[in-house]
Amino acid sequence: MTDRNDDLFSAARAVIPGGVNSPVRAYGSVGGTPRFLASATGATVTDAAGREYVDLVASWGPALLGHAHPEVVAAVQEAATRGLSFGAPTEGEVELAALIADRVRFGEIRPIERVRLVSTGTEATMTAIRLARGATGRDLLVKFAGHYHGHSDGLLAEAGSGVATLALPGSAGVPAPIAAQTLVIGYNDPEALAAVFAEHGQRIAAVIVEASAANMGVVPPLPGFNRLIAETAHAHGALMILDEVLTGFRVHPAGFWGLQASEGEDYLPDIVTFGKVVGGGMPLAALGGRAEVMDLLAPLGPVYQAGTLSGNPLSVAAGLATLRLATPEVYATIDAASARLSAALDAALTSAGVTHAVARAGNLFSASFRASVPRNYAEAQAQESFRYAPFFHTLREQGVALPPSVFEAWFLTAAHGDEELGLIEAALPAAAEAAAAA
Ligand code: PMP
Repeated sequence: MTDRNDDLFSAARAVIPGGVNSPVRAYGSVGGTPRFLASATGATVTDAAGREYVDLVASWGPALLGHAHPEVVAAVQEAATRGLSFGAPTEGEVELAALIADRVRFGEIRPIERVRLVSTGTEATMTAIRLARGATGRDLLVKFAGHYHGHSDGLLAEAGSGVATLALPGSAGVPAPIAAQTLVIGYNDPEALAAVFAEHGQRIAAVIVEASAANMGVVPPLPGFNRLIAETAHAHGALMILDEVLTGFRVHPAGFWGLQASEGEDYLPDIVTFGKVVGGGMPLAALGGRAEVMDLLAPLGPVYQAGTLSGNPLSVAAGLATLRLATPEVYATIDAASARLSAALDAALTSAGVTHAVARAGNLFSASFRASVPRNYAEAQAQESFRYAPFFHTLREQGVALPPSVFEAWFLTAAHGDEELGLIEAALPAAAEAAAAA
C-alpha cells in the first residue's frame, strides 16, 4: 500500500538526486521509503501521511530541548520581524560568542577565548583545518577512521555517517593530492598515533578528532585517549582540533570536553568546533580557540574565511535561546532518559537472544550487533548489521523513529517524558524479536 510519503518520494527522485538533500536521510541501508516530515513538536515528529512517531533522531542532534520549543520559536519569530539577514555585525552575535566562550570552561581552564560563527559543521571543521595549517605552516592532517567531520575534500577518507552507511571508502571528486594530505589512523590506538607522529611529526599541522566518536554508532574514547592526542600533538608542535559539532552542548553544558574534564580527564584542545545544538535547529555552527590562534583569521590575520549568512540573526536568536534554556536540569533530564532507554534496549535484545553491545558516551548511545562495544571503525563494521533493518522497521511500525542506519547515535531530547519513553520501551521487545529472526 502506498501513501503520501511514497508519492512524495517518487516526485522527489525526479528532481532531487536520490530524493534527499543529505544522504543519511535516505533509507539506504534499511530499505523502504523515507518519511517526509510535515511537522515536529516536543519529542514527536509527524510525517506527510499524518502518522506520528516518537523521535530519536532529533534532527541529528540540534533538538536538545525538543522540537519547536515555544521560547526558541518565539525568539526566531521576533528576530525575523527585525530583518532576515544583514551581512553586518549584530549585538546577538557578540552575546552568542561570549556565551559559548563562557560555557566551555573547567575551573580556570578556558580553551575558548575567541569564537567565529559559521553556518554548518562542515564549514567549522574546514575552517579549523585551514587555521591549523596557517598557524603551523604545515600541511598534513591526521584523522581517525570512522570519524565524520563534514563533507569537505580532505575529510571524507574512511569517514563515518553516510559514508559508512553506504560503505564508501571516501568520495569521488576529491583530487588525489588533497586526499594525500590526510593521514587516516585507527581510533583508540595509541601506537598508531605514536607511529604517525614518529614518521611525519614535523609535517603534521593538526589532529582532528570527534570528542567522542558517534558517526559509526557511538564509540567512546578509551580513558586517556583524548588527553594523549593533545599531548602528542603538542609535543610535535601540532594542534588538536576537537570536533564537538555533535557532542557540544548535548552531553554536558560544556560539551564532551567539559564532561571529561569534570571526570578528571583534562586536556587543552587548540580549536573546538560546534554545530547542531549551538544553532538550536537553525543553520549555525562555530569554531573557537585561544586568541593567538583564532586571531590569525581574516581580517586580523592571513587565514581567509567568510560567509554572507555567517551569524545570521535568526540562527543566532535560536542558538541564544537554546543555550540559555539548556540548564543543568535539562542535561540531568536527558541523562536520566538515556540511562533508562539504553537499559531497556539492552534488556530487550538480551531477552530476544540477540548478540549485541550498547555503547554510551554521556547521554549518547547506540547498539551494535556484536558481543562487545566497538573500539574503532574496523570493530564497528564487524557486526551483524543486517539485523538493524528489521529492528528499525518494527520500531517504526509501532511509532518510533530511529536513525535509518546502525552507524548513527540515538538522540534524546528534554521533551522525552515518561509517556514517550514508555511507548519506546513497549515497542522494543517486538523489534528485538525481529532482529533475532533476521
Ligand atoms: N562533525 C561532526 C562530528 C558531525 O557529526 C557532523 C554532522 N553530523 C559534522 C561535523 C558536519 O556538520 P554539518 O552536517 O552541519 O555540515
